Amino acid sequence: MKSLVLHEPGRLVMEECPVPVPGPGELLIRTKAATICTSDLNDIKHNAFDIALPMIMGHEGAGVVEALGEGVKNFSVGDQITAHPVMPCGKCTSCQRGLSHLCDDMTHLGINKGGVFAEYFCIRADRSRKVPQGMSFAMASLMEPVCVCIEAIQRAQVKEGSNVLIIGDGPFGIIIAKLLQSYHPRKVILTGRHPFRMALATGAVTINEHNTQDIVHEIMKASDGEGIDSAILCVGTALAVDTAIASLRSRGTLSVFSAVQPKPAIDLFKVHVKELNICGSCNDMDCLDKALALLQEKDLRMDQIVTHQIPFAQWEKALTLAERGKDEAVKVSMTFSE
Ligand SMILES: [Zn+2]
Ligand SMILES: [Zn+2]
Repeated sequence: MKSLVLHEPGRLVMEECPVPVPGPGELLIRTKAATICTSDLNDIKHNAFDIALPMIMGHEGAGVVEALGEGVKNFSVGDQITAHPVMPCGKCTSCQRGLSHLCDDMTHLGINKGGVFAEYFCIRADRSRKVPQGMSFAMASLMEPVCVCIEAIQRAQVKEGSNVLIIGDGPFGIIIAKLLQSYHPRKVILTGRHPFRMALATGAVTINEHNTQDIVHEIMKASDGEGIDSAILCVGTALAVDTAIASLRSRGTLSVFSAVQPKPAIDLFKVHVKELNICGSCNDMDCLDKALALLQEKDLRMDQIVTHQIPFAQWEKALTLAERGKDEAVKVSMTFSE
């Protein structure tokens, strides 16, 4: 099968690999769509998670069940499925504590198991869901990114009638802005640098950082002077951390959803006097069904997230589009023929 294999940081090669064999409880999937994640781009460049190379990359994928491993129930050959790339072990202390999404011994597509940037991949049946009627494979591939965005919203303690700030208009920032409509906050404020992306954040007040001298002032103004109850960090800069902490009101919560590097200085005095909560958000706790339900909510227009569908053979073009946000790209999906 044709596969995109990372050999060393910066060296991704399209090559032939053997079709994987589904183990017990696994499905073999013939890939139909694979969306490109910001983390894929980072892994390809820097391999910050120390992926044991060579590795077939990619973790957001959907396709058709081609074969069943031993003991699989509830799925049949020919089913259309979407995959969640995180497979917890179920045995470690994190799993025992009910935090299986932070499993100490997790299997993760594209990190320690062959990923979805290939014509076939294997996924555990319990981490798969059937694609709802009428949903495209490209949309179904968004299940996992939507899952982690739901978790970021929940970790930020977003409540009905509250003021929510999203910092960063990358694909995650835009997905979160869209999902937030179903939580009925009072105000959603999104800061970013790409007008075409911010235009997709229906219902949000958008602030373009390029045209703004004092971003915190603008955020305060947009929240009618109230300040922010929940801030979600979707960009990994020290300035973003600072903006969030300055904009939060008493007992507000910051959900750190981005890999912030290098280490920022945090104004703990403000954290102290405003009694702020700061929490991390990385993976999701079984949001699969909720994600598929939200992807189907017509009003959210989640279909606007996948802006480009590029044949797998043109993978270099697809990666460049995703990386540069060129041609008004948000999420780029690679498509696979028969
Ligand atoms: Zn992802
Ligand atoms: Zn575990």
